[in-house]
Amino acid sequence: MTTIGDIEVTKATSTRLKDISIDQFTFGKYYTDHMLEADYINGEWTNVQIKPYQPISISPACSAIHYGQSIFEGIKAYRSEKTGNISIFRPLDNFKRFNISARRMEMPEVPEDLFIEGMKQLIALDEAWVPREHDYSLYVRPFMFATDGFIGVKPSGTYKFLIILSPTGPYYNHPMKIYVEEKFVRAVEGGVGFAKNAGNYGAAMHPTAEAKKKGYDQVLWTDAKEHRYVQECGTMNVFFVFGNTAVTPGLESGTILEGVTRMSAIRLMKDMGVEVEERDLSIEEIKERYRKGELTEAFGTGTAATVLMIQELADKDDSLTLPQDKWKVGPAVKAKLDAIREGSAEDTYNWMVPVS
Ligand SMILES: *Cc1c(COP(=O)(O)O)cnc(C)c1O
Repeated sequence: MTTIGDIEVTKATSTRLKDISIDQFTFGKYYTDHMLEADYINGEWTNVQIKPYQPISISPACSAIHYGQSIFEGIKAYRSEKTGNISIFRPLDNFKRFNISARRMEMPEVPEDLFIEGMKQLIALDEAWVPREHDYSLYVRPFMFATDGFIGVKPSGTYKFLIILSPTGPYYNHPMKIYVEEKFVRAVEGGVGFAKNAGNYGAAMHPTAEAKKKGYDQVLWTDAKEHRYVQECGTMNVFFVFGNTAVTPGLESGTILEGVTRMSAIRLMKDMGVEVEERDLSIEEIKERYRKGELTEAFGTGTAATVLMIQELADKDDSLTLPQDKWKVGPAVKAKLDAIREGSAEDTYNWMVPVS
């Protein structure tokens, strides 16, 4: 097994940070000076290294490219406004989800010390890249893919696990216009909707591009059987607020990604005195309660955007507008989450894991 105490570290000879200023930190554009890389060979994780950020070489027959054994996670690290210390938001929950994805895709699990300790050491080494400013953070992208150079359809015998880091600023901060998708589907029961595997995102690109052509930012996925029940929104879980009750789809169907931000938002809302219901929610119910004036706000939750409000929800028949003057719960959840993550509120839930 991997002993992470002796990760081999090769340091970059210079930093690229000096050529970049913070206002260029748009999501996913720049990567830090180092990356973590490990290989799965003969049933064990080996060659665990932290080294300068660089291209990797793979076979043209690499089975991840042909058949899609490829999974990832998205996590954020923050520099405390008060102490300047760096902490990671709930990485253990992402670690557990990563191995849930791995099992569904018939890939090996990654040990906790490789995932968590490796991440901590990598972030500590590139700590100068963790921004201090409000709404800025270090996005952490662990991922694993099959590396066998063999084009038969079977699980690969070898894999690579990597972690790369990208400093990031506000994702997109304007409220979203959402199109209710009633033709394409993201996930079906028995499928892979609960896993963060690469194929789910490739399959979503065409429907999302179609919605963008119509002037929307994202699609709201509906269930595959009837296109009747709400699922999630782009790479965000979704909440609809009716007065003092927030409703979000439940997880039983296995078609929804169990977001760490989703579970954090549920905890915070309950503690703020907002009722939370995890259950089926139909488009009909949303429309009916909108007409009655009961629907006051809707928002998406995810690591990249935290909480993103929805200003318009449209399908082929109707367009619902959700005016900003009624928004209360979503902004309160965002403010509280940001305060915990940026260190200006006490971390009463023990969500922040210090890097060192
Ligand atoms: C990553 C993701 C989410 C949000 O999960 P978080 O853990 O909150 O970042 C929601 N839906 C999909 C499809 C996702 O890929």
